[in-house]
Amino acid sequence: MIDLSINSRQTSRCRPLLEVFAVALALNWYRADLRELSFLLLEQFRLGELVGRAPFEAWGADEVSSVLRETYRFAREVLGPLNAAADRCGCRLVDGRVVTPAGFPEAWKQLYENGFKQLGVHPDHGGQGAPAMLTVLVEEMLSGSNPAFAMYPGLAFGAADLLLECATPEQVKRYADRMFVGTWGGTMCLTEPHAGSDVGAAKTTARKQPDGTYRIKGTKIYISGGDHDLTENIIHLVLARVEGAPLGTKGLSLFIVPRRRVNADGTLSEGNDVSVASLEHKMGINGSATCVLNFGEADGCLGELVGGVENAGMSQMFRMMNGARIAVGIQGLAAAGSAYLNALEYARERKQGPHFTKWKDPTVPRVPILEHPDVRRMLLDMKSHVEGIRALVVKLARHVDLSRVLRGKDDEKASYHHGQVELLVPLVKAFASDEGFRVCSTALQVYGGAGYLKDHPVEQALRDVKITSIYEGTNHIQAMDLVGRKLGQAGGSHLQAFLGDISAFVEAHRSHPLLGKEVESLAAGQEALMSAAMGLLAWGQSGQLGLIALNANRFLGMMSRLAVGWLLLEGAAIADEAQAKLADVHADRAFYEGKKQAALWFARNELPRVEAEARLLTLSDASPMNIPDAGFGAA
Ligand SMILES: Cc1cc2nc3c(=O)[nH]c(=O)nc-3n(C[C@H](O)[C@H](O)[C@H](O)COP(=O)(O)OP(=O)(O)OC[C@H]3O[C@@H](n4cnc5c(N)ncnc54)[C@H](O)[C@@H]3O)c2cc1C
Repeated sequence: MIDLSINSRQTSRCRPLLEVFAVALALNWYRADLRELSFLLLEQFRLGELVGRAPFEAWGADEVSSVLRETYRFAREVLGPLNAAADRCGCRLVDGRVVTPAGFPEAWKQLYENGFKQLGVHPDHGGQGAPAMLTVLVEEMLSGSNPAFAMYPGLAFGAADLLLECATPEQVKRYADRMFVGTWGGTMCLTEPHAGSDVGAAKTTARKQPDGTYRIKGTKIYISGGDHDLTENIIHLVLARVEGAPLGTKGLSLFIVPRRRVNADGTLSEGNDVSVASLEHKMGINGSATCVLNFGEADGCLGELVGGVENAGMSQMFRMMNGARIAVGIQGLAAAGSAYLNALEYARERKQGPHFTKWKDPTVPRVPILEHPDVRRMLLDMKSHVEGIRALVVKLARHVDLSRVLRGKDDEKASYHHGQVELLVPLVKAFASDEGFRVCSTALQVYGGAGYLKDHPVEQALRDVKITSIYEGTNHIQAMDLVGRKLGQAGGSHLQAFLGDISAFVEAHRSHPLLGKEVESLAAGQEALMSAAMGLLAWGQSGQLGLIALNANRFLGMMSRLAVGWLLLEGAAIADEAQAKLADVHADRAFYEGKKQAALWFARNELPRVEAEARLLTLSDASPMNIPDAGFGAA
């Protein structure tokens, strides 16, 4: 267990209060089901076929299981106990520097000493080169146990990964290699007061110096991890416009702006005129420092151009956006996964009312609320969404891994897998975050009044998870990315391949004795999605762009439900086969039965929504556009 003693840098005024919080709240509320994780990895998505060969030669099933166990131990013993205290205490600005919650600096050290954050990093950069299928589940546990803490290493990794893709080899060596191993932190600085979704409106400027560096000037808001006390230096990646560059996104360049300048020999020099103007006070993830940063207030902020190329900032950002968006989807899943298991535990313990068959009899014993049909409905709804979204995340990660394995060996197949990654990223980001919020809300409902109190973890989970539908591109931006860009990519072949994969499953399982009817419902959903896609295309051809925007979120929801329904049914078919081979008393029988029932629930209650939504789409309803602005009412 980590030492929760208070960080000596904290002011004496806050100290007693923090101590009380830290001790009172050092509870671990994080829950994960390792049996479910190993089912996904080893039984449904057959990670065994990938490990042991290039580029995963160093990995085998034993290593995978041991990493899952060790991460869960770290999540429960180190990160979980810091989560509630960090929520209550938040970050503080002391003498212009951010002080993170008690225990965060020690947790950071342990995270990197144990190698959890470097798992997926290539060995050339200090990592272990693990498959993405494993690292997504490791990320789920890190984020689920302490989402605010996980933001800091998440951003350091994302920024380093961008540099690996886009920077010069010298820049990678100088900056990224130290960020991958946790020596330095990292941020992504896009947002400005007037430039949120409209990134191209950014006003931060960059003036070229005779030595090739740039003087950066401007203000960025909402910068996660914009300052902290976890590392000796922080590398800000800042979008700015070089003097004379075009307006809009085309004129944005990306700069490496270290908080402390780095000498030619790699040692640290003085500060770099980057200051924290203020810390935002937020609804959730309070342990994550969300900063307003001023660059170049005294005209002394120097930056280096990423890759030495001007006006390439947005395309460079896009290179890392897939990873960042998957990470945000995982944040949504992670909150939902733990909220579900906490609600389940509570439902097994809390007794209230008689069994529903004896509801009029005051003499019978009270039963755990788990026995009430409506509570069971909520639990199964949460279980099916959590497991289905997790399956979608691992499926996406499998496409990432296979596109790497096959690159240069079978380029056609590699490009199919890459295309599926492109298509599934907006689904993972938006569906996991929207449904993650909904699952946390349902989990709170299972607790009744107790859920609304801070004595239980779900009210924090609900607050923490809300941001996932907003940052890294709001979920409408994801939906527009799907319908405006991804559906038409490669002549629509990514979508065709996705639908083709579902067709292959339908053909193989149409007459399945248990799942046949639900597989037919999947086929109907697939047809409905196809006709909805044609409807969007027709609107595009006839210039009815407003209708496309009005229905983009609907289409993303339909496609996500179809994908999740398909993967749950696939898992159920595997579970059915495995269960049939087990003795009646085997502990895994109930586990497999749970997989089957979750898939049946989703297929019966969620898949029909795909057809229903497709019908709504054909109404071409433009009422949100037809209502006059004043008709919305007086605000
Ligand atoms: C806690 C937190 C952490 C953050 N971390 C970072 C960070 O580390 N780095 C960083 O750069 N930024 C960060 N952000 C900023 C975040 O990415 C933005 O909040 C987000 O992109 C949305 O921008 P906005 O808040 O200005 O909303 P707006 O862009 O004003 O959007 C408001 C609403 O209008 C909609 N909308 C906007 N434009 C359109 C359009 N063209 N068509 C249709 N609908 C539209 C949006 O979908 C949304 O519903 C963070 C924000 C928060 C709250």
